Amino acid sequence: LTDEELLADPVEKVTAVGGARHPSIPRPRDLFGAWANSAGIDLQDKDTLASTVQAVNASPVPLTGRGTLALGESDVAPLIARAEAAFGDWSRTDVEHRAQVLERLADLLEEHRIELMAYAVKEAHKSFADAVGEVREAADFCRYYAQRARIDLQTITLPGPTGERNEMRLTGRGTWVTIAPWNFPLAIFLGQCAAALVTGNTVVAKPAPQTPGIAARAVGLGHAAGVPADALILAPGGPEVGAALTADTRIAGVAFTGSTGTAKRIARTLLADDMRPIVPLIAETGGINAMIVDSTALPEQVVADVLTSAYRSAGQRCSALRLLLLQEEIADGLIEMLGGAMDLLRVGDVRDPRTDVGPVIDDAAYERLMGYRASVEAQWIKTVAVPAEGRFVPPTLIRLRHLDDLRQEWFGPVLHVATWRAGELAETIARVNAKGFGLTMGLHSRIARAADVAEAEAAVGNLYINRSMIGAVVGSQPFGGEGLSGTGPKAGGPHYLPRFCAERAVSVDT
Ligand code: GLU
Repeated sequence: LTDEELLADPVEKVTAVGGARHPSIPRPRDLFGAWANSAGIDLQDKDTLASTVQAVNASPVPLTGRGTLALGESDVAPLIARAEAAFGDWSRTDVEHRAQVLERLADLLEEHRIELMAYAVKEAHKSFADAVGEVREAADFCRYYAQRARIDLQTITLPGPTGERNEMRLTGRGTWVTIAPWNFPLAIFLGQCAAALVTGNTVVAKPAPQTPGIAARAVGLGHAAGVPADALILAPGGPEVGAALTADTRIAGVAFTGSTGTAKRIARTLLADDMRPIVPLIAETGGINAMIVDSTALPEQVVADVLTSAYRSAGQRCSALRLLLLQEEIADGLIEMLGGAMDLLRVGDVRDPRTDVGPVIDDAAYERLMGYRASVEAQWIKTVAVPAEGRFVPPTLIRLRHLDDLRQEWFGPVLHVATWRAGELAETIARVNAKGFGLTMGLHSRIARAADVAEAEAAVGNLYINRSMIGAVVGSQPFGGEGLSGTGPKAGGPHYLPRFCAERAVSVDT
C-alpha cells in the first residue's frame, strides 16, 4: 500500500496492529451479556473508525500538563480525613447498589469515549488503537468488578454444632490510597478505584503527574455515576504527594502500579511506624519479560507477536517484551525477518491512526532511553528511522552475548535478543527466572511438551504461549506478577476483590 492508500484506508493498518487479532474470543461483557464492541468503536468498520478519529482529534481537551493540577504535601491530610469520614455510610450501602454505580460508570465511560480517547492521545501520547483499548479496559474493569462483587461479597454460612450459627463475609477496610501509572492513565487508574469502591472502601486516588487531566475527568464521571464526592477523592501530584498519602497512618491499604523501587519505598513507609496498623499493599511493578522461541515456531507469527509485544505503546507497558530468546539454529533467519518487518513500523504522530509507535512519555524518559541506546550502539542489530522532531525513540534491536547480560528493565521500544541451545529450555527459563522478576513470559513452539515445561517452570504471573505478551483482557487474562514484579494480586481476575477487604466471621450460640 502506498501512503495515499493507507491514508484513504486507515482501517487496514489500525486493525493489523490493534486489538482485533482474535475477534472470536468473547470479551468479558459477552460472559456477562450485552458486550457490543470495543467501547462502542468498531475497528473493523471503516466509517465508524474514520469518524471516531476525526472526532477524537477535534475534541478540545484541556491539557493540564505536569504539575498544573498538583497538590502540595499539606493538602493531603484533609483529603484523607474526608474520605475516612465518608467510609461509614459508603461501606453500609449494599453491594448491589455499589455494583450498579460501577455499571453506570462503565456506561458513562463509553458515552464519553471520544473525550476520554482525546485525553489518552493528547495527554498520554497513546496511539489511536491504544486509546480505544484504554477506554475499553476501564469499562471492562468496572463491569467485571461489579459482577465479581455480587459473588464475592455474599455472606457464607459455615458448619458448626447444633445451636451455633457461623457466618463469614468480606467487608471494606476503610480508606485506600491508589497510585496509578501514566501508561494506563484511565484503565489502571479507574481499575484500582473501582475495586476499592465496590468492596465498600473509600478512595484517595493519585494519578501519575504526567496524566492528571484524564484522571480528573474519570473521577468526575465516577461522581456523576453515583459515587459520593468524599468516597472518591482525586489527589493529583508528584512523588511528595504519594509519600504524604502513604505516610498517613489512617489509611487502610495502598494499591500501587509503577516501579519496583517505589513499591519498596511504599512498603517501608507502611511498616515504619510501630503504632500504625498493618495494612495491605497491592503492588504491580515492572519486569524483564522474555519470549522464548524454538525451531518449530511459525516464523511469521513470531515476527508479528514480537513487534506487538516489544514496540506497541512504544514499549511502555509493564508487560512488554524486553528479551527475545531465539534457538540458535533459527536466530539468523528470524532476526532478518524481524528487521524487515521493523522497517514497516510507522513511528510518529499519534493523532494519525496509522501510527504504530508514538513518542515516549516525557523528556526524562527520552533522555534515559536515548542514552542507553547510544551506550550499546556497537550491539545494534537493527533500528528504524523516526521523525526528527519529537520524543521518538527509534525501535531498536540489540544483540546480547548472553541472556544474563540484561539486568534491568528499559521501559521503551528497545528489545534485546540472545540465543539458547536446543535441549536447554528448562535451563533457559530458569535463567530468566533468576533475574528475580516475574511478570510476563512468552513461548513460541509447536511442541506440546515445550508448553508443559514452560507452564511448570516459568515463575511469572502471565505466561503467553504462541501469541503476543501484551494486552491482557479483563476477566480472561488476570494481570499481575510476582517477585520483583509485584505482590501478586491479579487485576481483572476472580481473586482480586478480596484483597481489598477485611474478612469477618461471626459465630452465634442461638
Ligand atoms: N495489562 C497491560 C498489558 O497486558 C499492562 C499493564 C501495565 O503496563 O502496567 O499489556
